[in-house]
Amino acid sequence: MKYFLAVDLEGATGVVHHDQLMPDGRGYAAAQRWLTGDINAAIRGICAADAAAEIVVGDGHGIMRNVLLDELDERAMLVVGPGRYENKPLCQCEGIDASFDVGMLIGFHTRAGTPGGLLAHTFVGSTICDLSLNGRVAGEAEIDAAIMASYGVPVGLIVGNSDLEPEVRAWDPTVTFYATKTTLGPTAGICKTPRRTASEIEEIARQVVERRLYSLRENPATTTLTATLYRREMLDRAATVNGVHVVDDRTFSVTHANAAEAFRMFWNAITRTLEDPQPWLK
Ligand SMILES: [Zn+2]
Repeated sequence: MKYFLAVDLEGATGVVHHDQLMPDGRGYAAAQRWLTGDINAAIRGICAADAAAEIVVGDGHGIMRNVLLDELDERAMLVVGPGRYENKPLCQCEGIDASFDVGMLIGFHTRAGTPGGLLAHTFVGSTICDLSLNGRVAGEAEIDAAIMASYGVPVGLIVGNSDLEPEVRAWDPTVTFYATKTTLGPTAGICKTPRRTASEIEEIARQVVERRLYSLRENPATTTLTATLYRREMLDRAATVNGVHVVDDRTFSVTHANAAEAFRMFWNAITRTLEDPQPWLK
């Protein structure tokens, strides 16, 4: 079977602070190791239950060159490179297609506006104030699950910060969730050690695959993504994208029968809201 692992960093083992999120931060190198460790644990678990597993990992945080390829389990392949629309119109999910059987989300965090949420934001923290999916506020985990579902791919496991679990339960009461840390506030948590999360993630991933604990979303007839941005001029730039509907001064929406197509339009518009080339998009 084929497995797609969409990966973020804020919900990885030991990551609680902005200085761990980008290459110029003093905690970044350790965060890279811990994230790679979380992914390797999931790969070991998958392969323990499915020796013929084909695994693709999508590096989906910031510069999208975070995972340590040297240290990545050789049974997986890695999607590397910045999330420019020309590269990765599906952002964290780029590389997925209908040939995959199971998706997993590793290193995830809560959506923008979550009270006390650990490193909470939605895709582009400086731009997106609120994002909703068919009228309900949604975070990255749900959006990625919707993209996966549009390819018929169910979600098997979500790994992230403890405050993400209630967010996930609002749209999926049953999917397996594992917390790498207990959230205390926006930049603090009670962290499990990398050794502990490695053994726990491996065991949970193995059980998910062995028992086929997969959760497939129903695809809606149409998908509308509605984004409220922080500033009006951001919307002016987003509005130049074909298919973008301006709702009000700071809000636009895109609609498509297919969730992945709706996301591609959304991502095209969002990456255009950014005035100067962003270091993480270079
Ligand atoms: Zn991230």
